[in-house]
Amino acid sequence: MTYRLEFRRYRLPFRRAVRTAHGWWREREGLVLRLEDEAGGVGFGEVAPIPWFGTETLAEVEALLGRLGGVVDAGCVEQVDERHGCLRFALSSALGREAGVPAVQRLPVAALLPAGKAACEAADQALAAGYVAFKWKVGVLDDADEWVVLDDLLARLPGHAKLRLDANGAWTARRAMRWLARCAERPIEFVEQPCYAETSQGTALERRTDDVLLGLARDYPTPIALDESVAGLPGLQAWLERGWRGVVVVKPALAGDPATVLAMLAGHQADVVFSSAFETGVGRQAALRMAFSFKGRQPRALGFGVGPLFQDGRFDGMPPVPFLELHAVNHLQVEVIWNALN
Ligand code: MG
Repeated sequence: MTYRLEFRRYRLPFRRAVRTAHGWWREREGLVLRLEDEAGGVGFGEVAPIPWFGTETLAEVEALLGRLGGVVDAGCVEQVDERHGCLRFALSSALGREAGVPAVQRLPVAALLPAGKAACEAADQALAAGYVAFKWKVGVLDDADEWVVLDDLLARLPGHAKLRLDANGAWTARRAMRWLARCAERPIEFVEQPCYAETSQGTALERRTDDVLLGLARDYPTPIALDESVAGLPGLQAWLERGWRGVVVVKPALAGDPATVLAMLAGHQADVVFSSAFETGVGRQAALRMAFSFKGRQPRALGFGVGPLFQDGRFDGMPPVPFLELHAVNHLQVEVIWNALN
């Protein structure tokens, strides 16, 4: 079977700029690809790289797609190197390979709370909307100020609600220890990526930071989640193989071929949060289908509480909800997004 391959590049302004370790992120760049088989069957996939997470760049993807040509066969995923996880994910989903037999029909979604004091009001609104899981960005203000907000937040949340913190690697080892000592006495679901060193900062620092993360996981009761550290398949594999028992945040859109990623996670009985990479509805549908078909440990609340993302709401595909149903995910018509990119 051969497929006709087409793709459309996009540059979509966010409704609200996203704060990252590399400054403000104002627009999402990526591409949507379309595969059509000989019988006229059509599938879509999205390439949504985040180069500062260690993924390939969009320019690299375009060059690779140019090399694959306008006609590909079902082996096209395997022709792409594992380092190009975004492209492997997109081709797999366009071939309809992202979902196995569903393991669950409904999963909670964690509401993303803004940094600083604004988190409290946002938490009240999300609670009223029915959310039971919350994620708050920390490492933005002074610790003392954030600790006041933390206790304010915890006081607002009912006992069944879960609060996770994401430092995005902003802390030094010493700051992380102070935070984890504080969290030990509080009902925090987990602390995500307390420290992080990029490969570009040198392998010595990277190794030292990995040791800090292992030490934090060993010395404090609050679970540690890895996000930036496990963005690509090689990083994820390395951490699971060294026996990491903490949480792993998996952004399917960055991780690679879904079947390979799911098998690896299940094989290690990984404790997983499936999470958004700020993709459009095309990538989000595929990422969520993957989450719903995960046969390992029951995944934690989905990290897809980010929408609406784009100024042009057509590209979000689905409204933000506190619980996602698989049938709603399957119902999403991603062809609308492809057509809107014309
Ligand atoms: Mg994170």
